[in-house]
Amino acid sequence: MPVRDDSAALLAEAERWTAHNYHPLPVVIAAAEGAWVTDVAGERYLDCLAGYSALNFGHRHPALVEAARKQLDSVTLTSRAFVHDQFGPFCRELAQLCDADMVLPMNTGAEAVETAVKVARAWGYRVKGVPDGQATIVVAANNFHGRTTTIVSFSTDPDARADFGPYTPGFRIVPYGDLAAAAAAVDGTTVAVLVEPIQGEAGVLVPPDGYLAGLRALCTARGVLLVADEIQSGLGRTGRTFACEHEGVRPDLYVLGKALGGGVVPVSAVVGRGDVLGVLRPGEHGSTFGGNPLACAVGRAVVGLLRTGEYQERARRLGALLHRRLAALLGHGVTAVRGRGLWAGVDIDPRLMTGRQASERLLARGVLVKDTHGSTIRLAPPLLIEADEVDWAVAQLREVLV
Ligand code: PLP
Repeated sequence: MPVRDDSAALLAEAERWTAHNYHPLPVVIAAAEGAWVTDVAGERYLDCLAGYSALNFGHRHPALVEAARKQLDSVTLTSRAFVHDQFGPFCRELAQLCDADMVLPMNTGAEAVETAVKVARAWGYRVKGVPDGQATIVVAANNFHGRTTTIVSFSTDPDARADFGPYTPGFRIVPYGDLAAAAAAVDGTTVAVLVEPIQGEAGVLVPPDGYLAGLRALCTARGVLLVADEIQSGLGRTGRTFACEHEGVRPDLYVLGKALGGGVVPVSAVVGRGDVLGVLRPGEHGSTFGGNPLACAVGRAVVGLLRTGEYQERARRLGALLHRRLAALLGHGVTAVRGRGLWAGVDIDPRLMTGRQASERLLARGVLVKDTHGSTIRLAPPLLIEADEVDWAVAQLREVLV
């Protein structure tokens, strides 16, 4: 790749011509492979954000690129008005990975969450018998499920929510990790409990042991759907295919996205019980691009990578190393470390620097991370990261904190 040095001009152009809904770090990426990216000046960085877990298999994984290339040469879009030859196989293979009956493919995470909300409500009215217009869904405080108007209606983050009302009613917000509060919020109108098995954007918050199993028991006992948003926690990140598995929990609906498209194309889906997804009738829900041939071909290759168990095993093994190394920083500029598998929320001592400053200093040392909520940074490298790269990344953080 020819080395260029027009970073400043490209950063200024991006700043000038785009809405400022992001505050990106000052790096202009021009190429990427595996766990590493290269900027326009030829500098390399270890990608410890991995597209917020969309790049679990690394940048441009050969099997995913090959699947996309092959599909580009046959058919890329049909719309759901017709069936294409990748559609049935993708839905079957993904359903089997999830030990579920049925799949409803969409594109982005927020769309899949919206889909789960609609399906849960329709199930509530048509199967559970909730009076028309009364359905409620129990959600957790500090959740992050996406950016649409309905989803931000049940956010507790002022940045995500303020000035975007009027808000969609029908959601009850309870503290995350508090089983008794969830139980108290459920009544005859409740159709679902929607939860992140680990709260990612909130700072990689792992709920108390027994919380997910308790929610499962609560939902089963009260005839309510358990909907697990595994968009960020799922598909290998925590050392299992799904974070729910750490507590032996199978939700009624999984909401999947991010890594399902392998960082190649946007692919999301709701996957779960046939008697729940089966309530939808033709014309009630859809998407022009959802389940398109290119997405399905890449999604099938992703499912193929997950079926081997190799990435889950790497996340367990290298995640244990990552957490051992990070624990050694406690009391040395780090006040708390949370997470599971190759996923960590690291609280920097706010007297030292903000999370943003830590991210900028790590960037200068060749490590890409992103801050969240003040003094927290998140580490979520591709699952193919090597042990010496984990060591090196944490050593850079140690240097930044000195
Ligand atoms: N749900 C969770 C748990 C997420 O982490 C995200 C994105 O970060 C979303 C939903 C929204 O996904 P998307 O940005 O693809 O709409």
